[in-house]
Amino acid sequence: MRLSGKVGLVTGGASGIGASTAKAFADEGAKVVIADIQDAMSERLVRELREGGADAIYFHLDVTDEDNWRRAVDAALAAFGRLDVLVNNAGIGGRRDSGGSELDNWNQVMAVNATGPFLGVKAVLEPMKKIGGGSVINISSIYGIVGPTLDPHLPPTDAIAGAYNASKGSIRLLSKAAALQLSKYNIRVNSVHPGFIDTPLTARAFSYPETKEHLRRLHPIGRLGKPEDVANAVLYLASDEASFVTGAELVVDGGYTAQ
Ligand code: NAP
Repeated sequence: MRLSGKVGLVTGGASGIGASTAKAFADEGAKVVIADIQDAMSERLVRELREGGADAIYFHLDVTDEDNWRRAVDAALAAFGRLDVLVNNAGIGGRRDSGGSELDNWNQVMAVNATGPFLGVKAVLEPMKKIGGGSVINISSIYGIVGPTLDPHLPPTDAIAGAYNASKGSIRLLSKAAALQLSKYNIRVNSVHPGFIDTPLTARAFSYPETKEHLRRLHPIGRLGKPEDVANAVLYLASDEASFVTGAELVVDGGYTAQ
């Protein structure tokens, strides 16, 4: 029960890494707020967590909307009385074939992946100050540290693919800046940097066997990641075991960025 007595809010908590994190939190005794735009999936997960004996609620949260953030945090406080952990996990990949312009794609990716976590830190500041501390975990990426690998199996394009990297690099340093500023309140802020993880976000890329094999080989440990690999890292940062850890970037990438 590494999170006994704590309340954690996980954005993008309906799916992939977020859902796995929500389950790990519940297994370790936390009360969990799933915050996502996927209502049906979130409600299913809340039911599953409750059936397993956990306290969990769902709140519809679009992380790009500041007012929505205020209401989500109020709902967490109304349900559970406190908020100890925020996992800024909601994210999108940005699709080159979504039909919009490159600028539209840039703005959308930055709004969800960079502005979302910024609004999240703002929204939890007062409740965390009130209880004497907290832990914010921002899910960045290996692509917040290094540039993108070019998929040899996709047709060549001149479209600038940097929006995802820029958004993930942005929250890497948002985490360090906020960690320094908020340490006086005992609020820790860290970033997590997954390699390629098997989730709905990567399902399309992984559906091409050659692409999947190409990506697997980029991870020296010899396999692609599972959502639980990341959830375990988040769990550590959320727990009091990490009480001296702030401003850190934790890579969970099978050695990808060590090369
Ligand atoms: P996922 O399975 O697609 O889950 C992300 C969840 O966030 C989805 O339910 C998604 O809904 C939701 N979401 C999207 N936009 C949102 C918004 N504006 N407000 C609230 N929720 C929103 O993805 P994942 O692979 O678990 O990724 C989780 C995080 O890890 C992301 O930040 C991602 O960038 C990062 N990451 C993933 C990998 C990987 O290989 N999978 C690697 C490195 C980092 P929709 O389905 O409607 O979009």
